[in-house]
Amino acid sequence: MRCPECGTENPEVARFCLRCGHGFAAAAAGRSRGYAIQTAENVRQFALISTIMPHTNRESADAYRWALLLAAGAVIVFTVAGILPMAILSAAFLVPLAYLIYIYDINLWEDAPASVVAMLFVVTGALSTLVSLVFFRWVFQDEFRGLLVGLGGRAGGIEALPISGLLLFAVVLPIVAEIVKNIGPVFLASRPKFDDMIDGLTFGVAAGTAYAAFETLVAFWPVFTSGQIRTTDGLAEWTLVILNLMVVKSLIYGTATGIAAAAFSGRGEGYDGFTPSYFANFAFAAVMNVLYWLGVRLLAYAPFGQALGLLWGVVILAVLVIRVRVMLHTALIEAAIEDAANDRRAAYSTNETGFCPECEMQLLPDSAFCIACGESVRATSATARHRIREAPAGDAATTGGAA
Ligand SMILES: [Zn+2]
Ligand SMILES: [Zn+2]
Repeated sequence: MRCPECGTENPEVARFCLRCGHGFAAAAAGRSRGYAIQTAENVRQFALISTIMPHTNRESADAYRWALLLAAGAVIVFTVAGILPMAILSAAFLVPLAYLIYIYDINLWEDAPASVVAMLFVVTGALSTLVSLVFFRWVFQDEFRGLLVGLGGRAGGIEALPISGLLLFAVVLPIVAEIVKNIGPVFLASRPKFDDMIDGLTFGVAAGTAYAAFETLVAFWPVFTSGQIRTTDGLAEWTLVILNLMVVKSLIYGTATGIAAAAFSGRGEGYDGFTPSYFANFAFAAVMNVLYWLGVRLLAYAPFGQALGLLWGVVILAVLVIRVRVMLHTALIEAAIEDAANDRRAAYSTNETGFCPECEMQLLPDSAFCIACGESVRATSATARHRIREAPAGDAATTGGAA
């Protein structure tokens, strides 16, 4: 069977083209459904884990899903018990720590271990602390105080909204922050060994969540120095604030910066650099951050403002998540079609026969996609990839069901 998209000869049983991932079954539909990174899901689906952690398979994704849910539960328990410093500390570092563990766990870059990402985390964290200190404490402290709506609903009405504070903290700061969040990922993505689009995304998410954690610490520092270990007032509102301004915020920062950094990497081999596509995606990331903060600050003046703010954050996050998925999916498919059309053997293709980490079917030699489920072999963890690329045919029994 010849692939109508790229002309590669495929076995009759193939449901997807091994070179370009074209779906044979739904001939007309192409592959609008199965997400190339997690084929059981749709491309346009608000699925967090397979988006920010593209190297997980269905099983390991479940482990991260549970870990995040349990950690979020712990944050809520600390908050409801009124132990705010603990709640804030754990909420701030929940997502970035899970992300560091993920990167360590998948061992993405074998010869450049987790220390690269740890450095990215430390450098971005230091820059974040500096920017946050300038905005929240050293220079614009009064504007920040004026902007805050007292917890417990002591809102002074929307007329009382200080415009200069709003512009500073909902427009200027998010743009400055987006630039700072891009420094580390752009530097790393321009190294030859991290030039894959998924590498760019991973660095972006890591930097964005690190930035969010340190910003949270600086912005909520008074809670740590108040000397008050336990609080009993406004705990319901604190729960919403902590979920939104710490957990959801960190995911928004991560995915937004991931989009910009992925555009910097570009889809082919080598990095694309500062192209119009990078600037467009950077602008998109910055605008989403501005919209998030404008929404959160303005809604705080409405009745049930903190709940509405949390909802708003989830909407922004959903838009970002779907954008990441469409971007990665299109890039993986387009790059594969291009390689196949030019009869170029992609560096990520399989060398020997191995097994698909997603559906455990055999992968054909020299394939970029699983012919059974359409999973891209680029989105597998290093451990699984090793097995795909190096597993001798006779070793089959031990290499199925990777990681
Ligand atoms: Zn094809
Ligand atoms: Zn498969």
